[in-house]
Amino acid sequence: MTRCVLVKYGELALKGRNRSRFVAQLRRNLRRRVGSGVAIEQRAGALALVPDDGDTGALLDRARDVLGIAVLHPAVAVAKDPDAACAVAVALLRDHRGSFAIRTRRRDKRFALTSRELAVAVGAAVQRELGLPVDLDNPGRTVYLEVDEREIFAYTERVAGRGGLPVGASGRAVVLISGGIDSPVAAYRAMRRGLRCDFVHFSGEPFTGPESIYKAYANVRNLDRFQGGSRLWIVPFGRAQRAIAAAGAGRLQVMAQRRLMVRVAARLAERTGAQALVTGDALGQVASQTLPNLAAVEDAAPLPLLRPLLGFDKAEIVAQAQELGTFDVSRLPDEDCCQLFSHRQAETRARIDELRRIERAIDVEELVERVAAGAREVRPGGIDEEAAAHAVGAGGAAERPGAPVR
Ligand code: ATP
Ligand code: MG
Repeated sequence: MTRCVLVKYGELALKGRNRSRFVAQLRRNLRRRVGSGVAIEQRAGALALVPDDGDTGALLDRARDVLGIAVLHPAVAVAKDPDAACAVAVALLRDHRGSFAIRTRRRDKRFALTSRELAVAVGAAVQRELGLPVDLDNPGRTVYLEVDEREIFAYTERVAGRGGLPVGASGRAVVLISGGIDSPVAAYRAMRRGLRCDFVHFSGEPFTGPESIYKAYANVRNLDRFQGGSRLWIVPFGRAQRAIAAAGAGRLQVMAQRRLMVRVAARLAERTGAQALVTGDALGQVASQTLPNLAAVEDAAPLPLLRPLLGFDKAEIVAQAQELGTFDVSRLPDEDCCQLFSHRQAETRARIDELRRIERAIDVEELVERVAAGAREVRPGGIDEEAAAHAVGAGGAAERPGAPVR
């Protein structure tokens, strides 16, 4: 009898060549998450994770954070014969009082008994040994038996996985992460669609305190459990903001800043080969997120700008932030850089020609280079060797976020 965790990926969306790529990525991600003391074995439509130390509880907790998994079962694997199936079912029901059911499935159709015959035989053994009543409609506990190629898996629990696609299956992106509620949730939704994410945070330093940096750092550290090896670039942005204000941006201040942010983020994306940017914009949520304003930022973005929260209500975003554990950090007070130099009446219909005029006045190309060069790279989740090896032109050692230079 071997204790293991059975991992099942949603099969519906997986066809043809995509499927093997998906499974290979899922295996790599599982390996990274669960460490070397666990064997990862391929079975028909499932992966069996077998911990050296037999601690399936701890293993389950870690494996649950791997994206692209539909359901997990803490399970035991036993020999592929009816007697072993009976014995394990009895063991799984020994502490149970009340009715039970046996559900069986054969992935190996050559097994001597049909699914039904196996269920009947095992049910009879349980009744004989433990005297429990069968109830197929509303059982107090169900023992699932899956006849696989080499063994029978038995379990009583189904633990929902997070679904989605394995991180990395869809490529790489750079997430613009503020200290706010939305952007960490946007990052999670992007990862859940298979994007490996690195992060950039613009701080108002030297004109603001370090609070927003710490919040971004803490949230990236939390989100790192879904992928490992996350980079966070901290970009001092205050002087660039001042230059925009000095060019007379007025009501367009925030929009001009946003355009500069996406340009700098795209510059940083070159360091990892990321092919898209991600923001926490939700349509119509605040003045800067009207359709004309989203279009005005898009106009400046050298890479596709993905907005996973576009159709979310605030309440939905908050619920997801709470589930992830980013909400309490995001709620802490900070001085968001966007508030610096902002006009009391923000433009809700930014005109792209006016924004371009401001950008000519500040020599935006040169400013992008200067701001990007000031980025400090940190690794909130620690260095991940494999992730580092996959990055293009990766550089920079792990460090803690420094206090801003005043
Ligand atoms: P959030 O809660 O993510 O801050 P929000 O609803 O407050 O979002 P805005 O402040 O208008 O909206 O920001 C919209 C998006 O722009 C953010 O979700 C984020 O992706 C990006 N952004 C805003 N400020 C910053 C920043 N200081 N650093 C990095 N990205 C930022
Ligand atoms: Mg914000």
